[in-house]
Amino acid sequence: MLNPEELMIYSRHLGIDSWGTVTQERLKKKRVFVAGAGGLGSPVLYYLAAAGIGNLVLCDFDRVDATNLNRQILHRFGRIGAYKVDSAKQSLLELNPFVTISPLKEKLTGRNAVRLVGNSDIIVDCLDNFESRHILNIVSVTRNIPMIHAGVSEFRGQITFLHPPETPCLACFITEKKSRGVNNIVGAAPGVIGSMQAVEAIKYLAGFGATLKNRLVFWDGLTMKFETVLLKRNPRCRVCKNR
Ligand SMILES: [Zn+2]
Repeated sequence: MLNPEELMIYSRHLGIDSWGTVTQERLKKKRVFVAGAGGLGSPVLYYLAAAGIGNLVLCDFDRVDATNLNRQILHRFGRIGAYKVDSAKQSLLELNPFVTISPLKEKLTGRNAVRLVGNSDIIVDCLDNFESRHILNIVSVTRNIPMIHAGVSEFRGQITFLHPPETPCLACFITEKKSRGVNNIVGAAPGVIGSMQAVEAIKYLAGFGATLKNRLVFWDGLTMKFETVLLKRNPRCRVCKNR
């Protein structure tokens, strides 16, 4: 049940056609696994906490560094050196104390990923490297948990909604195994793409609208153009071919 303060916080949801307290209470019971509390994770986590998603699991083993602060708006100059998940938890509870934040200071590996993701309703890929993304993808496929993939670089980004066998998995269309060096990013770019990830997660959990299934959206901030590419499953994909 929602308390009077929560009803005030979510009052601008409650008036949306067909939303009501039923949807809001449903969101309070949901659990979202957010991999990465950095550039994408910042808007994703802020908006999911603000939307009243009841259980947010944050996974990041990194510590706050000065080079993060142009884009990772969960963190603060005064928290340089702190674990990102602890810094994030502080910011999120300042915004909304009525959600549960579970910080995990672990690096995702093939050994621990299934345990860390647990029985989450959805996975949000806010990672910055392909190695960890492919590990997360395997958990998404084997546990049948949908995953919202996104990536950003400089002034551009991409996003899609993955849930095999209805859609491809990440390995069907991303073959890169390793990431290359430092990824330069204009801070507002993960703000754009991460906000879109939050919209996708909220829609899916609330049962509203149509998600980006089988559609990969590219955004170019320099020209302010969006391009949509239709995705198909790779029938020989080693990760999802048996789904
Ligand atoms: Zn696949």
